[in-house]
Amino acid sequence: MKTGYLQDFLTLLLTHYLADNMTRPHLLLPRPTTVDFKASCFDDNSAPKALAFMCSVCLTLLSASPEASCPVCETPIQPKEPTAT
Ligand SMILES: [Zn+2]
Repeated sequence: MKTGYLQDFLTLLLTHYLADNMTRPHLLLPRPTTVDFKASCFDDNSAPKALAFMCSVCLTLLSASPEASCPVCETPIQPKEPTAT
């Protein structure tokens, strides 16, 4: 670990966890960010319409079928054999 990182981390810990209740309202603490939990495509960040593809290894969601391998974990995609009817 770099020394600057440790000093910054120690400052953060001392600021956040050792401040008393009188001091806490005056601190500029990081605000919670909102997180969008909707499913979205890894490639273009769009919401999947009706059908999406998911890598069975890393669970990456894609709106279009990848051609050869998963773009994230590079697992080879094996095309599904057509079933005889
Ligand atoms: Zn994957």
